[in-house]
Amino acid sequence: MSDLARVVTRFGAELILRTADGALLRAVSRRNLAKGEPPHLRAPVCGDRVRYTAGDGAKAIATALEPRRNVLVRPDHRGRPTAGAANIDQVLIVIAAQPTPDWGMLDRYLTAIAALPAAPLLVLNKCDLPETASNPLLRATQSLYTGLGYPLLCVSALHGAGIDALRERLQGQTSLLVGQSGVGKSSLIRALDPALSVRVGELSAISGEGRHTTTVAHLYALASGGDLIDSPGVRDFAPYQPSADDLAAGFPEIAARARECRFHDCRHLAEPDCAVKDAVDAGRLAPTRLRSYHALARNCV
Ligand code: GDP
Ligand code: ZN
Repeated sequence: MSDLARVVTRFGAELILRTADGALLRAVSRRNLAKGEPPHLRAPVCGDRVRYTAGDGAKAIATALEPRRNVLVRPDHRGRPTAGAANIDQVLIVIAAQPTPDWGMLDRYLTAIAALPAAPLLVLNKCDLPETASNPLLRATQSLYTGLGYPLLCVSALHGAGIDALRERLQGQTSLLVGQSGVGKSSLIRALDPALSVRVGELSAISGEGRHTTTVAHLYALASGGDLIDSPGVRDFAPYQPSADDLAAGFPEIAARARECRFHDCRHLAEPDCAVKDAVDAGRLAPTRLRSYHALARNCV
């Protein structure tokens, strides 16, 4: 009889599992647990659910991989596809008045999230800063994305505003945290659950890898409910070669207008009777969104 556990993190061949009663357990994995998957998806990753049995020594053995809801694939340092995390329900995209938002990056995130698929949640952090309210570009962009139907929460990791509402959105979900460096992701984790930093230390001890553990993906159980995946490597994720369907899901307002273009395969570049470009010219579609779309369409498969 095997038990079910969740993968908290992975160091090479070693896994840290969280058992049903919340205990952390070191484990090794049988080879190629998911035989039907392509090679880069066969090993368990952060967020996976696995069956395990007690091993001979101190380590348990992961014997089977439960079917995944989704798996985040991103290019590794050599550009090859690699699995970063699995079973993600929701992705928190953290933005702030400082550093200056990179809207192209936000559109890449949204397309990757639509492709996973998972639910996006925009988190505007540092709402205590006067720039948050006074920056006209930030305000316009906020209304652009909420107008497109993306949920947005204004919070302050520093002062605690909006943190209760954010905790509520995380309950019962596995949420991945992404966003540019400096927007306040680490501060948000501390604000959400001050005890987490203690448990990060416990993880480092159990893995024996000390501080290096902070560079790989980790699944944290929040005291208020829900799991949070934080990974410096996954923070900058972008769609790995989006398909035409991924692009349509990432840019629903462009996909809707594209149905009116003269050519069914219109790329909205210089074609005549392009409803998408007409909408941009008429001020009904944000030019920044079309720019992001074109940037992603270049890698489209
Ligand atoms: P990360 O790189 O996304 O993990 O960002 P950090 O959590 O390290 O935060 C970057 C900087 O922003 C730090 O100097 C934080 O003190 C600051 N910061 C984070 N959250 C807030 C906030 O809500 N308000 C203000 N004013 N500063 C914040
Ligand atoms: Zn067109």
